[in-house]
Amino acid sequence: MVLDKFKLNGQTAVVTGGARGIGLAIATALAEAGARVVIADLDPQGQKSAEHLQAQGLQAEYHSLDVTHSSQVEALAQTLGPVDILVNNAGICRNTPALETPDEEWLQVFNVNVHGVFWCSRAFGRGMAARQQGSIINIASMSGRIVNRPQPQAAYNASKAAVVHLTRSLAAEWAPFGVRVNAISPGYIGTKMTKRGLQTPEWRQDWLGLTPLGRLGEPEEVAACALFLASEASSYLTGSELVVDGGYTIW
Ligand code: NDP
Repeated sequence: MVLDKFKLNGQTAVVTGGARGIGLAIATALAEAGARVVIADLDPQGQKSAEHLQAQGLQAEYHSLDVTHSSQVEALAQTLGPVDILVNNAGICRNTPALETPDEEWLQVFNVNVHGVFWCSRAFGRGMAARQQGSIINIASMSGRIVNRPQPQAAYNASKAAVVHLTRSLAAEWAPFGVRVNAISPGYIGTKMTKRGLQTPEWRQDWLGLTPLGRLGEPEEVAACALFLASEASSYLTGSELVVDGGYTIW
């Protein structure tokens, strides 16, 4: 049965930035499919999120993690034992005009969005390669292909383009080890990240007006794609980018 291919029983999944938003929706979907899910997040709210999943009879736990510190990432990989699925979801966005962007802000965006993705992929990918199985899903963005308007976000856009090409690079390198690496590029999704922009009328008007489906996406609509990429249902996909943007990048 093709539906059986979506099941994740007996597998362990790590979701960075899984305390809320898209990450929490992905953690929930993977746990509902039978995985033991590790929410690895800077935000201690991740503990409550894990308890909420446990209360539904799902396997979830929280570990504090700052993805920008490779030593923390390596320590978590040592602690957890075999990990089958890694979702690199932690990400930040800053809307500072390029001419006013301080060095520290540029570096922080790249530290979380690009370096964090690499530190986690390397640390968890090592065990996957040794066991000849694994699925890594990088949450990129449509901002890696287009320049959003009207808000300025050069660092974010450049960082997400890097995530997409890092995805392809690791997919090519690790295919012989049985490790698949894919990306999801969401459009505008209703989370804390987009809340402030939605309250700004000109931003809201552009965001919705430029989206053919005429609405924001829900975190669960990204999570369903992550479940597909995590599972055997996507066994012939690697190095691919699923664009989940309500059609934004068509125009
Ligand atoms: P949120 O801001 O709602 O959640 C992000 C989570 O990541 C927070 O819990 C945050 O914790 C955590 N986090 C931030 N920095 C780190 C870090 N250094 N180490 C570990 N965890 C960290 O974001 P979304 O759910 O909206 O976004 C999730 C992903 O999806 C991001 O990569 C984002 O770029 C991407 N995306 C989102 C879109 C959208 O429209 N929402 C569109 C396209 C892509 P804390 O609060 O403590 O910082």
